[in-house]
Amino acid sequence: MAAPAAIELVSADLTVQGDLPAAATLSVPRSEAAATALGAVSAAPTDEPLSDDEIARRVAEDLSSLGAMSLGRPNAGAIINAVQMPEGENWELVTPYRSWATPETVGYLIAAIEKVNAQFPPSHKLYIGHLSREHGGPLRPHRSHQSGRDVDTSYYYRLDRNPGWYQRASAYTLDLPRTWALVRALVTETDVEYLFIDRSVQRLLKKYALEVGENRAWLDRIFQLGSREPEPIIRHAWGHVTHIHVRFHNPQAQQLGVRAYDALRAQRLIGSKFGYARYRAEGGETLTAMAKRYGTTDEIIARANGLRNIRLRAGRVYSIPYRGRVRRVAEVVIPSRRQPPEPGGASRSRSVAAPEGGGR
Ligand SMILES: [Zn+2]
Repeated sequence: MAAPAAIELVSADLTVQGDLPAAATLSVPRSEAAATALGAVSAAPTDEPLSDDEIARRVAEDLSSLGAMSLGRPNAGAIINAVQMPEGENWELVTPYRSWATPETVGYLIAAIEKVNAQFPPSHKLYIGHLSREHGGPLRPHRSHQSGRDVDTSYYYRLDRNPGWYQRASAYTLDLPRTWALVRALVTETDVEYLFIDRSVQRLLKKYALEVGENRAWLDRIFQLGSREPEPIIRHAWGHVTHIHVRFHNPQAQQLGVRAYDALRAQRLIGSKFGYARYRAEGGETLTAMAKRYGTTDEIIARANGLRNIRLRAGRVYSIPYRGRVRRVAEVVIPSRRQPPEPGGASRSRSVAAPEGGGR
């Protein structure tokens, strides 16, 4: 999730140390991208699960043979054997050197984009912001984006409305058919965990989806807006009217990350260091809310800033002791994908409206 612009990491701690082998650069030809994407892109041979001893041996002697590992958590993590999101005709990388992730993340993202372009004439680009750094770890101005599972993408915009990176999505600018196709592909064909999308955009998308005959009960299960679903996939978060934050589950890379954690620590390939994040309070916030945001405690922040009051003063900049660390994760749980009911059900007719927007 993009943090408010006021956040700045004063010292960006590297959580991965030592010489890592150069990660293989993934180059997926456009036509094969979708086919390769779902599951098959990892360098790790997965026919037979490796024993713990074998994992430890390879961590010490042959790290690159293990394939990608997503370590820790999105806000306290690292990646090993990352791949770089390739260039493509249908998307534009805003910052290629911040476009590292696991093959699963890259594959899911490409598959979803290809799906949109298979459905509609491929004239609209998706702009892709930060994924992660090559070895993960803190990436300003975000709190997450550390473990190779987070991606910021643009919305699809109408070509006659000045598309570009970080444009405001509205009824005026948004290409609803393509954006809905993207969201739908991410939800139904990838292991997406969350999509952070501004409420105002959720409203437009959900209305559009209903108009093209999507199942209302299914939409209520995935959208936060207008539903009581306790764990919606599409959630509102501040700052996401200009881009979508996508977080994926990575069944393979997370699993391997859990199993290799101790061996990686023993080899000093992951470590921990301290730094400080700086946060400018906006008003009406409490110390507790800020602590929760940064995964720390009231006491730690109060001590670092000499505070006696839990109310934060608007405009004041607070220092938050920040640990660039790789959290130990005990277990990886990948929920099943939320699929819409089979077509043929009464409420679903796939009459997709023609894409809006000029151009061609
Ligand atoms: Zn983000």
